[in-house]
Amino acid sequence: MARSLPTENTKTTTVLWLTGLSGAGKTTLADQVARDLRAAGQACFVLDGDNVRKGLSQDLGFSDADRTENIRRVAEVAKLMRDAGLTVIVALISPFRAERDAARTSIGNDHFIEIYLDTPLAVAEQRDVKGLYKKARSGELKNFTGIDSPYEPPLAPALTIHTETETPQQSAARVMQVLNVKGNR
Ligand code: ADP
Repeated sequence: MARSLPTENTKTTTVLWLTGLSGAGKTTLADQVARDLRAAGQACFVLDGDNVRKGLSQDLGFSDADRTENIRRVAEVAKLMRDAGLTVIVALISPFRAERDAARTSIGNDHFIEIYLDTPLAVAEQRDVKGLYKKARSGELKNFTGIDSPYEPPLAPALTIHTETETPQQSAARVMQVLNVKGNR
């Protein structure tokens, strides 16, 4: 007689997709959420511009076509990591709606949570965490999102974060709430 198979673990993991201008707070929030998830015993990984563009996408620049290809690669890697049981936090400007939608389609709507860091350009530019706005304003850096390249805000994000009025810890707590409601399907 055939033995019954072990009960499958039905808990699945999620991709949190953080989008917003440079300096909006994506990396800061991603790192805080990663700390909170690890503290709760959930394995996770942050994919951001720094670790992706130094390796996987080191052959790509910032033209529209290259940005599209970068997002496609990140979505595919996020999908693989999710399959391996990680909660994946993607922290990329990802300025184009169509590409974020393509990532959602590739990853699967049920496992994709779009989070919009709605930091105004003036605030992000004032922070100028990496000095990139200064370079973009002087023309040293081309195709910089918000300056000479467009940013298309999400139309229906699962969560909108206003970083001027809350701390990264408060923002992360709101992300964790959404994850608890939507993340375990
Ligand atoms: P990005 O990854 O979007 O380019 P960074 O995370 O590198 O942005 O920088 C965002 C800056 O905004 C940091 O100096 C961070 O401390 C600050 N900040 C203030 N409030 C928040 C918040 N609620 N969430 C994230 N970052 C915040």
